[in-house]
Amino acid sequence: MGVDDCTLYGIHKMKIVSRAIIKNKNTGKTINSHWSYYRCKCGNLFACSGAPQLGEPVMDYLTNHYMDGVGMSGIITIFVDPSDIESTTDDTIPGHSFM
Ligand SMILES: [Zn+2]
Repeated sequence: MGVDDCTLYGIHKMKIVSRAIIKNKNTGKTINSHWSYYRCKCGNLFACSGAPQLGEPVMDYLTNHYMDGVGMSGIITIFVDPSDIESTTDDTIPGHSFM
């Protein structure tokens, strides 16, 4: 899925918020409990298993489209279809900067 432009900055400025627990929405089983999630001031959310804010690879990730309804603070749980998880070894993805 594509990325929406940032209404505040043009490119989302993603700041790490907390840890995220990723669960399979079909089985309820935990896929990974050590992801991080990020938020831009415009409200856009992002979650991944890597550490792009440190210049490290993003690895497995979910864009804002799959994070509707999740909390905005503290540790969150995200229920996803595993096939919606994307992956990259780059340290960023288009339309986002990590800090
Ligand atoms: Zn933004």
